[in-house]
Amino acid sequence: MSLVKPLRLLLLGAPGSGKGTQTSRLLKKIPQLHSISSGDLLRQEVKHNSGFGSIAFNYISQGKLLPDELMTKLVVTNLKQSGWLAPDASWLLDGFPRTSTQAEALNKDLQTYRAELNLVVELDVPESVILERIENRFVHVPSGRVYNLQYNPPKVAGKDDVTGEPLTKRSDDTAEVFSKRLKQYKSTLAPLKEYYINKGILQMVSGETSDIIFPKLYDLIEREFGAH
Ligand code: ATP
Ligand code: MG
Repeated sequence: MSLVKPLRLLLLGAPGSGKGTQTSRLLKKIPQLHSISSGDLLRQEVKHNSGFGSIAFNYISQGKLLPDELMTKLVVTNLKQSGWLAPDASWLLDGFPRTSTQAEALNKDLQTYRAELNLVVELDVPESVILERIENRFVHVPSGRVYNLQYNPPKVAGKDDVTGEPLTKRSDDTAEVFSKRLKQYKSTLAPLKEYYINKGILQMVSGETSDIIFPKLYDLIEREFGAH
């Protein structure tokens, strides 16, 4: 698909709802699109053992959200450095904003570049499906690629399809931390959704698997932003 107008998309969804998987698929189909995942950015900081990384790890390992200001700065700096704070760039955000405070702060920054979000899609996946997925999830930290041993296993066990580098299990994908993340998500979701409902840009797609969700998400984008 080629976009006829810039797409600035936020994917919302519970942990394990498949934001990362949908992101990879969208990037493959829409060459103009770029992505930023706040979780991936943080995991890269942790991997590089930066000072910030060790602060981040403290929060992540407890399933707690990092402070809003810190997160906003991290993501906006990244958008800026990537050159995407321009009215004609298309990108998608995964995992940020996560609170209404983050949403407001981001909006303020984006406004000055005339590049506000123009679509927010909530991925709605049953909780039972999510819980089952998490145990089988492996990630390639440098790229953020996500694998699931059942649904999309790597071609070679334990190795990333593209680079051949090792896959790892996220330290926060344990039953205990995961339930905290899920609780946290639910408690911040309502005001965040409210914020985007008021802007008139919130949509929802439902389904049990990423294969069911993807075509719905894709159609939705094509209808509003694609060439016909
Ligand atoms: P998924 O399982 O789909 O990746 P998730 O939302 O649980 O979803 P990440 O987005 O990878 O996982 O985030 C992992 C952790 O990083 C969070 O639990 C939190 O500690 C921190 N984090 C990520 N994004 C934010 C944010 N916008 N605000 C605060 N903390 C964040
Ligand atoms: Mg993710």
